[in-house]
Amino acid sequence: MRNLFRRALPLVSGEAAQEAAPELWVRCGRCREMLYAREWEAAHRVCAKCGFHARLTVADRVALLLDGGSWQELDGSLRATDPLGFAPPGRQSYAEKLATESRDSGQNEAAAYGRGSVDGIPVALAVLDMGYFAGTLGAVVGEKVARAFELGVAERRAVIVVSASGGARQQEGVVALLQMAKLAAAAQALAAARVPFVSVLTDPTLGGVTASFATLGDCIIAEPGAVIGFAGPRIIEQTTGEKLPPGAQTAEFQLTHGMVDLVIARRDQKAAIARVIRLLMGGTALQASAAARDHLTAATNGATTMQPVPALQGFR
Ligand SMILES: [Zn+2]
Repeated sequence: MRNLFRRALPLVSGEAAQEAAPELWVRCGRCREMLYAREWEAAHRVCAKCGFHARLTVADRVALLLDGGSWQELDGSLRATDPLGFAPPGRQSYAEKLATESRDSGQNEAAAYGRGSVDGIPVALAVLDMGYFAGTLGAVVGEKVARAFELGVAERRAVIVVSASGGARQQEGVVALLQMAKLAAAAQALAAARVPFVSVLTDPTLGGVTASFATLGDCIIAEPGAVIGFAGPRIIEQTTGEKLPPGAQTAEFQLTHGMVDLVIARRDQKAAIARVIRLLMGGTALQASAAARDHLTAATNGATTMQPVPALQGFR
């Protein structure tokens, strides 16, 4: 009985509290402050002290950006194959690595896409997730993002892609590299259909993802402090023998050098994206989408609007 009362005594510091109940506290990845986990989650994993934006899962992104209950994931069962039979001697094969990643993360792949709405505006959303294979762009991730663009064309939904990726998936070799061209063509088809594409760059956005669709948005929004670049800083320094200037490859650096349009904190992203889409679609996006749906319904006899995009066929 005496022990019960002893446990109820107030704890003197965050450190002591963490020892008593580690699940209640998290340590900020940048300033190392101890944060109350529930408040940190409620702030979408942004540090109340220094503003550090920790990484989010697909589910977190959906909750952050889409209207409650509007998310409808598509093709969630797509799984990677091993097109090259990649098995370097003495190391884990690609097939084994895929199994390990699935087991550890509980996910099928490094991306999800589907329909949803942002502040009432119908959108197609694709999200890349660093939690599976470092968000790398392989055939399945490429296909899902391409299908998000195609959904945007077919249903005249604005497309939002949230990137978080180490780049192309090397274990898929040229198949992974081909996704870059395929996705650039898909983004181009969306632009030709005059449907907006909002690209959201989060920490980190690198390699083949930066070098293809992620930097082709009509509006490119970055999260504060996100690392955005092609090769990572260590690779650049090893290759050139020079040290990068402080802050190079951050969202803020890329903003001042014209590579991104806006740096927006997580809590303001949904409202900003809704505003951008409304501006780009002219008038209200809701009216535009309703009119487009009517047009598509009326045009099913011999219409050209719903034809597959020829540019994409060669990359399948
Ligand atoms: Zn912090």
